[in-house]
Amino acid sequence: MSSLIPGSEALSLRARTAAERCGVHGESLAGSHPVLSPVNGLPIGAVDWATSVDDSLERAQAAFLIWRKVPAPARGAVIKRFGELLTEFQADLGTLVSLEAGKITSEALGEVQEMIDICDFAVGLSRQLYGRTMVSERPGHRLAETWHPLGVVGVISAFNFPVAVWSWNTALALVCGDPVVWKPSEKTPLTALAADALLRRALRESGHPEDVSQVVLGDGALGAELVNHPGVKLLSATGSTRMGRQVGPQVAQRFGRSLLELGGNNAAVVAPSADLDLAVRGIVFSAAGTAGQRCTTLRRAIVHRSIADELAGRLEEVYRRLPVGDPTAEGTLVGPLIDASAHTSLIGALKQAVEEGGSVVAGGDRELETAAPEAFYHRPALVRMPGQSPIVQAETFAPILYLLTYDDFAEAIALNNAVAQGLSSAVFTRDQAEAELFLSAEGSDCGIVNVNIGTSGAEIGGAFGGEKETGGGRESGSDAWRAYMRRATNTVNYSGELPLAQGVDFTV
Ligand code: NAD
Repeated sequence: MSSLIPGSEALSLRARTAAERCGVHGESLAGSHPVLSPVNGLPIGAVDWATSVDDSLERAQAAFLIWRKVPAPARGAVIKRFGELLTEFQADLGTLVSLEAGKITSEALGEVQEMIDICDFAVGLSRQLYGRTMVSERPGHRLAETWHPLGVVGVISAFNFPVAVWSWNTALALVCGDPVVWKPSEKTPLTALAADALLRRALRESGHPEDVSQVVLGDGALGAELVNHPGVKLLSATGSTRMGRQVGPQVAQRFGRSLLELGGNNAAVVAPSADLDLAVRGIVFSAAGTAGQRCTTLRRAIVHRSIADELAGRLEEVYRRLPVGDPTAEGTLVGPLIDASAHTSLIGALKQAVEEGGSVVAGGDRELETAAPEAFYHRPALVRMPGQSPIVQAETFAPILYLLTYDDFAEAIALNNAVAQGLSSAVFTRDQAEAELFLSAEGSDCGIVNVNIGTSGAEIGGAFGGEKETGGGRESGSDAWRAYMRRATNTVNYSGELPLAQGVDFTV
């Protein structure tokens, strides 16, 4: 692995080439808001921000009137084509993910693969938007439910999954008959423009209105417009709990629907019977992968006291040799933090952890400062903590793993659950009773509960999301599609009589 970090010109050229290959017009890349790459902290392009969401909403609403009448399997055919285009341009989109979000190449390609996977899922779903039929209590009556398109879906996404989260929402929304207006993170606009260009191409080639897909570039203020717009029937927002705390009540105020995917503070319990080789690998990927910037990043290892020293020693050894550097270089496993504020948060959290009685076992130091003074590379930190103090209970969006100990399994479950967030959790154990208890109603209170695998790296087939301050939303697989449709219950009377439900007599 090279310790050299590419310069601004080289990265700008790579970004422009990748974006244009995906179909982004050159003029979209010559705006007035610079786009910084976390790889070197320097501009790789510039885009214009929208001044309002109104035009996009109007276009999406007009497209809805057409799109809702297109049969769902024909909508699925568009998503099928989109998936083919994503496959063709996977490397280009992956390059943009690396350059804008700082992901290593393998994870960036994985993010695009996730988009392809959800397209496959949505294509199948387009023939399976099933409603139930129910038995009626009245003779000669039939009871059924029908699922209809909901209307315009607003999507607000975070920087750390610049395109996958949008695709989870959009592939489902589109087969469900809903147009999407997307406000991507202000930190990752090029990836958004490229993904949208590919979707618009799929729509165009299939003879459908391109306006079912809209991108509006801007910051939280523009996002707030989307939140408050009465034309947005479902607002799907991914980001910090701070953002969700503002967005949730605003959408509720206008009786809109919201789907919130917010912060996590994920833990793994490591029991005495655990396969420690497997646990170390699972923990390191979950805690240090994506430079600790996944919502599902492992932030707390809750380890049985009898194995805590051994596990800490093994993790320390791996942490000291993790390859940190240019995420696009071969061999790198840990890329940069997104920006200066993430660096400040990491430094502040480590300081607070020490003040709260913790000791930094490994990492935390800034690296490559001379090669890339504007970028923020850090060796992931491993910190032993005496208990679940305030800093351990907060989500610091950076690679810090706190190691805590427990004595009995009930205490481990209690520690897992004793934080405000409820996204992902895991247990490493070979004791079946412990594993089942962790999965049970008395176990982890999170939306994702794993056994012998880390907290991050979910597949698209399951519903994704979490409880408590994580927001309660579910996206992606399973029956998450229902959030994007409205349900009508139908009672059909073919009896020629008019018996009333519950035996009510209303003879006139
Ligand atoms: P962020 O909250 O700063 O921004 C997320 C998005 O919300 C951006 O597009 C931003 O412009 C927008 N936004 C901010 N304030 C807004 C407001 N008042 N109204 C409307 N929109 C607003 O988050 P980030 O730094 O981009 O991402 C990191 C956070 O996202 C972490 O907390 C992480 O856990 C969370 N996250 C959660 C999930 C999940 O599925 N649960 C997935 C990815 C990231």
